Amino acid sequence: MATSGNLFILSAPSGAGKSSLISALLKQASSREMQVSVSHTTRQPRPGEVDGQHYHFVSVEKFKQQIDNHDFYEYAEVFGNYYGTSEVAIDNQLAKGIDVFLDIDWQGAQQVRMKKPDVTTIFISPPSRQALEERLRSRGQDSEEVIASRMAQAKAECSHYQEFDYIIVNDDFEQALADLTTIVNNQRLKRSQQIENHQLLFKDLLAND
Ligand code: 5GP
Repeated sequence: MATSGNLFILSAPSGAGKSSLISALLKQASSREMQVSVSHTTRQPRPGEVDGQHYHFVSVEKFKQQIDNHDFYEYAEVFGNYYGTSEVAIDNQLAKGIDVFLDIDWQGAQQVRMKKPDVTTIFISPPSRQALEERLRSRGQDSEEVIASRMAQAKAECSHYQEFDYIIVNDDFEQALADLTTIVNNQRLKRSQQIENHQLLFKDLLAND
């Protein structure tokens, strides 16, 4: 039987560079080792976003139906839209021994922590308030009104930083990526994981001569 994968949550205010960090982390590994969960959302796709790849874009009706069907591991309303993580999808990946990353907000992180206390939670912080605003503007995809509301939401997201196991300040991208990689490797080397990984080794080491 395959060793079960580890579950990680990455939360950050938008503009902290979380998506770039996750992409870079996944590029270093094979999809048999780690994957990012593709959430369902009722928000409209942004230019360049692909259904099924960045999100599963669904209607509010469909999302509510999925809530009623208990399809979601967690779900939350963020910026006036619904976002949710499919339970079946992540269970399947974990059962195959794949490490799964959830890119979700603090509300989702709280729900997952209740269901799975051994989840590893990571908060990605921008290096400063100014950098956060500059990153939000440089995307060029959102109106002034949306940027202002995202700055307010960013503050709300940051107010939960103390609830996370790890905090990475994304000042230097390569350093932040190295920090993230360290956290993932640290989790993989934990006793519980290693006992599962090396059952035969320890059985052999302790066998009677
Ligand atoms: P965006 O619309 O910019 O892609 O995401 C907005 C926020 O929603 C981000 O903070 C992101 O982490 C969060 N989010 C994305 N997917 C999920 C999800 O499945 N559940 C929860 N709770 N939050 C999500």
